[in-house]
Amino acid sequence: DAPLSEVDPEIAAVLDGELRRQQDTLEMIASENFAPRAVLAAQGSVLTNKYAEGYPGRRYYGGCEQVDVAEELARERAKALFGAEHANVQPHSGAQANAAVMHALIRPGDTILGLELAHGGHLTHGMKANFSGRLFDVASYGVDPETFLVDMNVVRDVALERRPKLIIAGWSAYPRHLDFAAFREIADEVGALLMVDMAHFAGLVAAGLHPSPVPYADVVTSTVHKTLAGPRSGLILSRAEHAKKLDSAVFPGQQGGPLMHVIAGKAVAFKIAASEAFKERQKRTLEGAKLLADRLLQPDVDAVGASVLTGGTDVHLALVDLRRSELDGQQAEDRLHAAGITVNRNAVPFDPRPPMVTSGLRIGTPALATRGFGATEFAEVADIIAGALDPAADVAPLRERVRTLTEAFLLYPGITSAQ
Ligand code: PLP
Repeated sequence: DAPLSEVDPEIAAVLDGELRRQQDTLEMIASENFAPRAVLAAQGSVLTNKYAEGYPGRRYYGGCEQVDVAEELARERAKALFGAEHANVQPHSGAQANAAVMHALIRPGDTILGLELAHGGHLTHGMKANFSGRLFDVASYGVDPETFLVDMNVVRDVALERRPKLIIAGWSAYPRHLDFAAFREIADEVGALLMVDMAHFAGLVAAGLHPSPVPYADVVTSTVHKTLAGPRSGLILSRAEHAKKLDSAVFPGQQGGPLMHVIAGKAVAFKIAASEAFKERQKRTLEGAKLLADRLLQPDVDAVGASVLTGGTDVHLALVDLRRSELDGQQAEDRLHAAGITVNRNAVPFDPRPPMVTSGLRIGTPALATRGFGATEFAEVADIIAGALDPAADVAPLRERVRTLTEAFLLYPGITSAQ
Protein backbone atom coordinates (compact mmCIF):
# COMPACT_ATOMS: atom_id res chain seq x y z
CA ASP A 1 0.00 0.00 0.00
CA ALA A 2 2.26 2.73 -1.33
CA PRO A 3 1.93 6.39 -0.28
CA LEU A 4 0.31 8.96 -2.55
CA SER A 5 3.66 10.49 -3.52
CA GLU A 6 4.62 7.13 -5.07
CA VAL A 7 1.25 6.11 -6.50
CA ASP A 8 0.52 9.47 -8.08
CA PRO A 9 3.27 12.08 -7.88
CA GLU A 10 1.28 14.49 -10.07
CA ILE A 11 -1.65 14.63 -7.64
CA ALA A 12 0.74 14.64 -4.67
CA ALA A 13 2.30 17.76 -6.18
CA VAL A 14 -1.13 19.39 -6.49
CA LEU A 15 -1.85 18.73 -2.78
CA ASP A 16 1.48 20.14 -1.67
CA GLY A 17 1.22 23.08 -4.06
CA GLU A 18 -2.25 23.93 -2.78
CA LEU A 19 -1.11 23.71 0.85
CA ARG A 20 1.72 26.13 0.06
CA ARG A 21 -0.66 28.45 -1.82
CA GLN A 22 -3.02 28.55 1.17
CA GLN A 23 -0.10 29.12 3.55
CA ASP A 24 1.61 31.83 1.48
CA THR A 25 -1.39 33.98 0.52
CA LEU A 26 -4.26 35.68 2.29
CA GLU A 27 -7.57 33.94 1.63
CA MET A 28 -10.41 36.43 1.46
CA ILE A 29 -12.99 34.62 -0.65
CA ALA A 30 -16.04 35.13 1.55
CA SER A 31 -17.33 31.58 1.07
CA GLU A 32 -14.06 29.90 2.03
CA ASN A 33 -12.44 28.93 5.30
CA PHE A 34 -9.79 26.60 6.68
CA ALA A 35 -11.16 23.38 8.12
CA PRO A 36 -9.38 22.45 11.35
CA ARG A 37 -7.06 19.47 11.33
CA ALA A 38 -9.61 17.45 13.30
CA VAL A 39 -12.13 17.92 10.47
CA LEU A 40 -9.52 17.07 7.83
CA ALA A 41 -8.70 13.91 9.77
CA ALA A 42 -12.32 12.76 9.81
CA GLN A 43 -12.75 13.60 6.15
CA GLY A 44 -9.62 11.81 5.01
CA SER A 45 -10.51 8.61 6.85
CA VAL A 46 -11.63 5.01 6.27
CA LEU A 47 -15.24 6.15 6.61
CA THR A 48 -15.04 6.98 2.90
CA ASN A 49 -15.18 3.22 2.30
CA LYS A 50 -18.61 2.71 3.85
CA TYR A 51 -21.99 2.48 2.15
CA ALA A 52 -24.80 3.55 4.47
CA GLU A 53 -27.92 4.28 2.42
CA GLY A 54 -30.77 5.08 4.76
CA TYR A 55 -30.58 6.71 8.19
CA PRO A 56 -29.12 5.64 11.57
CA GLY A 57 -30.84 2.46 12.76
CA ARG A 58 -32.59 2.07 9.36
CA ARG A 59 -29.84 1.30 6.86
CA TYR A 60 -29.94 -0.73 3.67
CA TYR A 61 -26.42 -2.05 4.33
CA GLY A 62 -24.80 -4.08 7.09
CA GLY A 63 -21.83 -2.95 9.13
CA CYS A 64 -23.16 0.53 9.85
CA GLU A 65 -22.74 0.41 13.64
CA GLN A 66 -19.82 2.88 13.65
CA VAL A 67 -21.10 5.30 11.02
CA ASP A 68 -24.49 5.35 12.76
CA VAL A 69 -22.76 6.82 15.80
CA ALA A 70 -21.14 9.51 13.65
CA GLU A 71 -24.39 10.51 11.94
CA GLU A 72 -26.35 10.53 15.19
CA LEU A 73 -23.72 12.79 16.78
CA ALA A 74 -23.79 15.10 13.76
CA ARG A 75 -27.59 15.34 13.83
CA GLU A 76 -27.85 15.91 17.57
CA ARG A 77 -25.06 18.49 17.59
CA ALA A 78 -26.57 20.37 14.65
CA LYS A 79 -29.97 20.50 16.36
CA ALA A 80 -28.46 21.68 19.65
CA LEU A 81 -26.21 24.25 17.97
CA PHE A 82 -29.06 25.94 16.11
CA GLY A 83 -32.00 25.07 18.34
CA ALA A 84 -33.74 23.14 15.55
CA GLU A 85 -36.31 20.37 15.91
CA HIS A 86 -34.89 18.28 13.06
CA ALA A 87 -31.60 18.00 11.20
CA ASN A 88 -30.59 16.14 8.07
CA VAL A 89 -26.81 16.05 7.72
CA GLN A 90 -26.63 14.00 4.53
CA PRO A 91 -26.73 16.61 1.73
CA HIS A 92 -23.48 16.44 -0.20
CA SER A 93 -23.51 20.20 -0.74
CA GLY A 94 -25.51 23.37 -0.23
CA ALA A 95 -27.00 23.04 -3.71
CA GLN A 96 -28.17 19.48 -2.93
CA ALA A 97 -29.70 20.64 0.33
CA ASN A 98 -31.72 23.25 -1.54
CA ALA A 99 -32.70 20.77 -4.24
CA ALA A 100 -33.90 18.33 -1.58
CA VAL A 101 -36.03 20.97 0.14
CA MET A 102 -37.76 21.89 -3.12
CA HIS A 103 -38.17 18.21 -3.97
CA ALA A 104 -39.80 17.65 -0.57
CA LEU A 105 -42.06 20.65 -0.23
CA ILE A 106 -43.14 21.86 -3.67
CA ARG A 107 -43.88 20.44 -7.11
CA PRO A 108 -42.41 21.22 -10.52
CA GLY A 109 -44.25 24.18 -11.99
CA ASP A 110 -44.89 25.80 -8.60
CA THR A 111 -43.74 29.37 -8.09
CA ILE A 112 -40.68 30.13 -5.97
CA LEU A 113 -39.62 33.60 -4.87
CA GLY A 114 -35.98 34.41 -4.10
CA LEU A 115 -33.35 37.13 -4.29
CA GLU A 116 -32.21 37.79 -7.84
CA LEU A 117 -28.88 36.20 -8.69
CA ALA A 118 -27.49 39.49 -10.01
CA HIS A 119 -28.39 41.14 -6.70
CA GLY A 120 -26.65 38.58 -4.49
CA GLY A 121 -28.92 35.53 -4.63
CA HIS A 122 -27.68 31.98 -5.26
CA LEU A 123 -27.94 29.84 -8.40
CA THR A 124 -30.30 27.47 -6.59
CA HIS A 125 -32.74 30.27 -5.78
CA GLY A 126 -34.11 30.32 -9.32
CA MET A 127 -31.34 30.92 -11.88
CA LYS A 128 -32.52 29.96 -15.36
CA ALA A 129 -29.89 27.30 -16.09
CA ASN A 130 -30.09 25.79 -12.59
CA PHE A 131 -32.55 23.01 -11.66
CA SER A 132 -34.45 25.62 -9.67
CA GLY A 133 -35.01 27.78 -12.72
CA ARG A 134 -35.80 24.86 -15.00
CA LEU A 135 -38.28 23.11 -12.73
CA PHE A 136 -40.07 26.03 -11.14
CA ASP A 137 -41.81 29.22 -12.09
CA VAL A 138 -39.37 31.83 -10.78
CA ALA A 139 -40.33 35.14 -9.23
CA SER A 140 -37.65 37.31 -7.69
CA TYR A 141 -37.02 40.38 -5.61
CA GLY A 142 -34.05 42.66 -6.08
CA VAL A 143 -32.39 45.27 -3.92
CA ASP A 144 -33.38 48.91 -3.94
CA PRO A 145 -31.47 50.88 -6.61
CA GLU A 146 -30.67 53.67 -4.13
CA THR A 147 -29.93 51.86 -0.87
CA PHE A 148 -28.90 48.44 -2.27
CA LEU A 149 -30.95 46.92 0.56
CA VAL A 150 -33.76 44.37 0.31
CA ASP A 151 -36.97 46.32 0.72
CA MET A 152 -39.59 44.15 2.47
CA ASN A 153 -42.40 46.18 0.90
CA VAL A 154 -41.13 45.08 -2.51
CA VAL A 155 -40.85 41.46 -1.37
CA ARG A 156 -44.44 41.64 -0.15
CA ASP A 157 -45.70 43.23 -3.40
CA VAL A 158 -44.06 40.54 -5.53
CA ALA A 159 -45.32 37.81 -3.19
CA LEU A 160 -48.88 39.13 -3.37
CA GLU A 161 -48.72 39.33 -7.14
CA ARG A 162 -47.01 35.99 -7.86
CA ARG A 163 -48.35 33.89 -4.96
CA PRO A 164 -45.25 31.68 -4.49
CA LYS A 165 -45.46 28.28 -2.81
CA LEU A 166 -41.96 28.76 -1.41
CA ILE A 167 -40.22 31.98 -0.38
CA ILE A 168 -36.44 31.87 -0.15
CA ALA A 169 -34.50 34.28 2.05
CA GLY A 170 -30.73 34.06 1.94
CA TRP A 171 -27.82 35.20 -0.18
CA SER A 172 -24.35 34.68 -1.51
CA ALA A 173 -23.43 38.35 -1.64
CA TYR A 174 -25.30 40.75 0.63
CA PRO A 175 -23.69 42.66 3.48
CA ARG A 176 -26.64 43.14 5.85
CA HIS A 177 -29.10 41.15 7.96
CA LEU A 178 -32.39 40.08 6.43
CA ASP A 179 -35.62 40.61 8.36
CA PHE A 180 -36.69 37.01 8.97
CA ALA A 181 -39.77 38.01 10.95
CA ALA A 182 -41.01 40.10 8.02
CA PHE A 183 -40.35 37.22 5.61
CA ARG A 184 -42.40 34.96 7.91
CA GLU A 185 -45.29 37.40 7.91
CA ILE A 186 -45.29 37.63 4.14
CA ALA A 187 -45.09 33.85 3.78
CA ASP A 188 -48.09 33.51 6.09
CA GLU A 189 -50.01 36.20 4.25
CA VAL A 190 -49.66 34.46 0.89
CA GLY A 191 -49.74 30.88 2.21
CA ALA A 192 -46.13 30.09 1.28
CA LEU A 193 -43.51 28.06 3.06
CA LEU A 194 -40.36 29.92 4.10
CA MET A 195 -36.90 28.55 3.46
CA VAL A 196 -33.89 30.46 4.75
CA ASP A 197 -30.58 29.58 3.11
CA MET A 198 -28.04 30.61 5.73
CA ALA A 199 -25.06 29.06 3.88
CA HIS A 200 -22.97 32.20 4.26
CA PHE A 201 -23.80 33.33 7.76
CA ALA A 202 -24.40 30.03 9.57
CA GLY A 203 -21.21 30.40 11.61
CA LEU A 204 -22.33 33.81 12.83
CA VAL A 205 -25.73 32.36 13.77
CA ALA A 206 -24.07 29.48 15.64
CA ALA A 207 -22.04 32.02 17.62
CA GLY A 208 -25.12 34.11 18.43
CA LEU A 209 -23.76 37.07 16.47
CA HIS A 210 -26.41 37.12 13.76
CA PRO A 211 -30.19 36.79 14.11
CA SER A 212 -31.22 33.14 13.85
CA PRO A 213 -33.67 32.22 11.10
CA VAL A 214 -34.60 28.97 12.86
CA PRO A 215 -37.57 30.35 14.85
CA TYR A 216 -39.09 31.87 11.71
CA ALA A 217 -38.42 29.47 8.85
CA ASP A 218 -40.12 26.20 8.01
CA VAL A 219 -36.78 24.98 6.72
CA VAL A 220 -33.25 26.33 7.05
CA THR A 221 -30.54 25.13 4.68
CA SER A 222 -26.84 25.73 4.90
CA THR A 223 -23.42 24.77 3.75
CA VAL A 224 -21.02 23.63 6.44
CA HIS A 225 -17.78 24.92 4.89
CA LYS A 226 -18.17 28.70 4.87
CA THR A 227 -18.31 30.64 8.15
CA LEU A 228 -18.96 27.29 9.88
CA ALA A 229 -15.49 26.07 8.79
CA GLY A 230 -16.46 22.42 8.50
CA PRO A 231 -16.12 19.97 5.63
CA ARG A 232 -17.45 20.99 2.19
CA SER A 233 -21.08 19.86 2.42
CA GLY A 234 -24.71 20.78 3.13
CA LEU A 235 -27.20 20.71 5.99
CA ILE A 236 -30.96 20.95 6.40
CA LEU A 237 -32.72 22.03 9.61
CA SER A 238 -36.47 22.05 9.95
CA ARG A 239 -39.52 21.97 12.07
CA ALA A 240 -40.45 18.42 13.10
CA GLU A 241 -43.55 18.42 10.91
CA HIS A 242 -41.41 18.46 7.74
CA ALA A 243 -38.83 15.90 8.94
CA LYS A 244 -40.16 12.81 7.17
CA LYS A 245 -40.65 14.50 3.83
CA LEU A 246 -37.23 16.14 3.93
CA ASP A 247 -35.44 12.94 4.89
CA SER A 248 -36.98 10.99 2.04
CA ALA A 249 -36.29 13.84 -0.39
CA VAL A 250 -32.58 13.65 0.48
CA PHE A 251 -32.53 9.85 0.36
CA PRO A 252 -33.77 8.27 -1.86
CA GLY A 253 -35.07 11.42 -3.56
CA GLN A 254 -31.83 13.17 -4.39
CA GLN A 255 -28.90 11.08 -3.27
CA GLY A 256 -27.64 7.54 -2.87
CA GLY A 257 -25.03 6.66 -0.27
CA PRO A 258 -24.22 9.43 2.20
CA LEU A 259 -20.59 10.56 2.47
CA MET A 260 -19.97 9.18 5.94
CA HIS A 261 -16.43 10.58 6.16
CA VAL A 262 -17.87 14.04 5.50
CA ILE A 263 -20.70 13.48 7.97
CA ALA A 264 -18.11 12.58 10.63
CA GLY A 265 -16.32 15.84 9.72
CA LYS A 266 -19.62 17.71 10.16
CA ALA A 267 -20.03 16.22 13.64
CA VAL A 268 -16.57 17.50 14.56
CA ALA A 269 -17.29 20.93 13.06
CA PHE A 270 -20.58 21.27 15.00
CA LYS A 271 -18.79 20.33 18.23
CA ILE A 272 -16.16 23.00 17.59
CA ALA A 273 -18.84 25.54 16.62
CA ALA A 274 -20.37 25.23 20.09
CA SER A 275 -17.11 26.33 21.75
CA GLU A 276 -16.11 29.70 23.19
CA ALA A 277 -13.06 29.75 20.90
CA PHE A 278 -15.35 29.51 17.88
CA LYS A 279 -17.47 32.39 19.13
CA GLU A 280 -14.39 34.51 19.70
CA ARG A 281 -13.26 33.75 16.15
CA GLN A 282 -16.63 34.79 14.71
CA LYS A 283 -16.31 38.06 16.66
CA ARG A 284 -12.95 38.69 15.00
CA THR A 285 -14.52 37.80 11.64
CA LEU A 286 -17.13 40.53 12.09
CA GLU A 287 -14.63 43.00 13.47
CA GLY A 288 -12.34 42.39 10.49
CA ALA A 289 -15.14 42.94 7.98
CA LYS A 290 -16.11 46.21 9.68
CA LEU A 291 -12.51 47.43 9.71
CA LEU A 292 -12.21 46.57 6.05
CA ALA A 293 -15.43 48.37 5.10
CA ASP A 294 -14.44 51.44 7.16
CA ARG A 295 -11.02 51.61 5.51
CA LEU A 296 -12.50 51.34 2.01
CA LEU A 297 -14.84 54.22 2.77
CA GLN A 298 -11.92 56.60 3.44
CA PRO A 299 -11.30 59.59 1.13
CA ASP A 300 -8.18 58.14 -0.56
CA VAL A 301 -10.20 55.11 -1.74
CA ASP A 302 -13.12 57.30 -2.77
CA ALA A 303 -10.66 59.39 -4.81
CA VAL A 304 -9.82 56.35 -6.97
CA GLY A 305 -13.51 55.61 -7.53
CA ALA A 306 -13.97 52.71 -5.14
CA SER A 307 -16.52 52.40 -2.37
CA VAL A 308 -18.46 49.90 -0.25
CA LEU A 309 -22.05 48.94 -1.06
CA THR A 310 -24.58 49.94 1.61
CA GLY A 311 -21.88 51.96 3.34
CA GLY A 312 -20.65 49.10 5.53
CA THR A 313 -21.41 45.59 6.68
CA ASP A 314 -23.16 43.61 9.42
CA VAL A 315 -21.65 40.28 8.38
CA HIS A 316 -18.39 38.61 7.38
CA LEU A 317 -17.96 40.31 4.03
CA ALA A 318 -17.85 43.68 2.33
CA LEU A 319 -18.94 44.36 -1.23
CA VAL A 320 -16.61 46.73 -3.02
CA ASP A 321 -18.27 48.98 -5.57
CA LEU A 322 -16.01 49.77 -8.55
CA ARG A 323 -18.58 51.36 -10.84
CA ARG A 324 -16.74 54.69 -10.71
CA SER A 325 -13.29 53.10 -10.77
CA GLU A 326 -10.92 52.82 -13.68
CA LEU A 327 -10.39 49.23 -12.48
CA ASP A 328 -13.10 46.72 -13.26
CA GLY A 329 -13.73 43.70 -11.03
CA GLN A 330 -11.40 41.47 -13.02
CA GLN A 331 -8.53 43.96 -12.91
CA ALA A 332 -8.99 44.59 -9.19
CA GLU A 333 -9.10 40.84 -8.51
CA ASP A 334 -5.89 40.43 -10.56
CA ARG A 335 -4.11 43.24 -8.72
CA LEU A 336 -5.04 41.74 -5.35
CA HIS A 337 -3.92 38.32 -6.57
CA ALA A 338 -0.56 39.82 -7.50
CA ALA A 339 -0.37 41.26 -3.99
CA GLY A 340 -1.05 37.78 -2.54
CA ILE A 341 -4.69 38.34 -1.57
CA THR A 342 -7.33 36.03 -3.02
CA VAL A 343 -10.81 37.49 -3.54
CA ASN A 344 -13.50 37.06 -6.16
CA ARG A 345 -14.90 39.65 -8.48
CA ASN A 346 -18.62 39.99 -8.11
CA ALA A 347 -21.27 41.82 -10.08
CA VAL A 348 -22.82 44.68 -8.15
CA PRO A 349 -26.60 45.06 -8.54
CA PHE A 350 -27.41 47.03 -11.71
CA ASP A 351 -23.82 46.42 -12.86
CA PRO A 352 -22.98 48.30 -16.05
CA ARG A 353 -20.08 45.94 -16.87
CA PRO A 354 -20.51 42.38 -18.26
CA PRO A 355 -20.81 39.45 -15.80
CA MET A 356 -17.36 38.01 -16.56
CA VAL A 357 -15.77 41.41 -15.82
CA THR A 358 -18.07 43.03 -13.24
CA SER A 359 -17.80 46.25 -11.24
CA GLY A 360 -17.34 44.71 -7.83
CA LEU A 361 -15.40 42.55 -5.42
CA ARG A 362 -16.70 40.37 -2.61
CA ILE A 363 -14.17 40.30 0.21
CA GLY A 364 -14.63 38.13 3.28
CA THR A 365 -12.81 37.73 6.58
CA PRO A 366 -13.72 34.20 7.87
CA ALA A 367 -10.57 32.42 6.69
CA LEU A 368 -8.22 35.07 8.07
CA ALA A 369 -10.05 35.07 11.41
CA THR A 370 -9.50 31.30 11.49
CA ARG A 371 -5.84 31.97 10.76
CA GLY A 372 -5.77 34.05 13.93
CA PHE A 373 -6.07 37.61 12.63
CA GLY A 374 -7.38 40.26 15.02
CA ALA A 375 -7.96 44.00 14.75
CA THR A 376 -4.30 44.92 14.12
CA GLU A 377 -3.83 42.45 11.28
CA PHE A 378 -7.21 43.20 9.71
CA ALA A 379 -6.39 46.91 9.74
CA GLU A 380 -3.13 46.14 7.92
CA VAL A 381 -4.92 43.92 5.37
CA ALA A 382 -7.54 46.61 4.80
CA ASP A 383 -4.79 49.14 4.15
CA ILE A 384 -3.06 46.79 1.68
CA ILE A 385 -6.36 46.31 -0.17
CA ALA A 386 -6.95 50.07 -0.22
CA GLY A 387 -3.48 50.42 -1.77
CA ALA A 388 -4.17 47.79 -4.44
CA LEU A 389 -7.38 49.54 -5.48
CA ASP A 390 -5.33 52.57 -6.56
CA PRO A 391 -4.49 51.74 -10.19
CA ALA A 392 -1.36 53.92 -9.99
CA ALA A 393 0.11 52.11 -6.98
CA ASP A 394 2.95 49.60 -7.28
CA VAL A 395 1.85 46.11 -6.16
CA ALA A 396 5.32 44.76 -5.21
CA PRO A 397 5.57 46.47 -1.80
CA LEU A 398 2.02 45.29 -1.02
CA ARG A 399 3.13 41.71 -1.72
CA GLU A 400 5.90 42.16 0.83
CA ARG A 401 3.44 43.38 3.46
CA VAL A 402 1.28 40.32 2.78
CA ARG A 403 4.33 38.09 3.20
CA THR A 404 5.01 39.61 6.61
CA LEU A 405 1.48 38.66 7.69
CA THR A 406 1.52 35.12 6.27
CA GLU A 407 4.85 34.47 8.00
CA ALA A 408 3.67 35.84 11.33
CA PHE A 409 0.41 33.83 11.22
CA LEU A 410 1.29 30.37 10.00
CA LEU A 411 -1.54 28.33 8.58
CA TYR A 412 -1.55 24.68 9.65
CA PRO A 413 1.72 25.18 11.54
CA GLY A 414 3.97 22.16 11.48
CA ILE A 415 2.40 20.77 8.31
CA THR A 416 4.74 21.00 5.35
CA SER A 417 3.19 18.31 3.19
CA ALA A 418 -0.51 17.75 2.51
CA GLN A 419 -0.15 13.97 2.29
N1 PLP B 1 -26.56 28.64 -0.93
C1 PLP B 1 -25.86 29.75 -0.85
C2 PLP B 1 -26.49 30.99 -0.31
C3 PLP B 1 -24.52 29.77 -1.27
O1 PLP B 1 -23.81 30.91 -1.21
C4 PLP B 1 -23.96 28.57 -1.76
C5 PLP B 1 -22.55 28.46 -2.17
O2 PLP B 1 -21.95 29.28 -2.74
C6 PLP B 1 -24.76 27.44 -1.86
C7 PLP B 1 -26.06 27.50 -1.42
C8 PLP B 1 -24.30 26.19 -2.51
O3 PLP B 1 -23.37 25.48 -1.85
P1 PLP B 1 -22.50 24.36 -2.59
O4 PLP B 1 -21.45 25.09 -3.34
O5 PLP B 1 -22.00 23.53 -1.46
O6 PLP B 1 -23.41 23.59 -3.49
